[in-house]
Amino acid sequence: MIRRPPTIVCYICGREYGTKSIAIHEPQCLKKWHNENNLLPKQLRRPEPIKPQITTISAKGFYDLEALNEAAWTSAQSQLVPCHICGRTFLPDRLIVHQRSCKPKVAK
Ligand SMILES: [Zn+2]
Ligand SMILES: [Zn+2]
Repeated sequence: MIRRPPTIVCYICGREYGTKSIAIHEPQCLKKWHNENNLLPKQLRRPEPIKPQITTISAKGFYDLEALNEAAWTSAQSQLVPCHICGRTFLPDRLIVHQRSCKPKVAK
């Protein structure tokens, strides 16, 4: 039986990491997040992502990884910023690129 090694979803960027690499990744990711956030125009800046805390522990004594990952994923999704023109959501740096070419639909 092959078991997939458990992965943890980064609550900042939404990517999956191994249980060891997440500990290294998280502080770096948060730092990068702060750098990016500072570069954004004021109206696009977001509140710092909050690390989800899951207190339920499964019968086997492990943290409920699935619930934790789901909460982390939701947290990462809330970092996306909607384009005020077309309504699609983007990472802020993508949004800036996107909005250069996003034109409001001309009502006919
Ligand atoms: Zn990350
Ligand atoms: Zn758009």
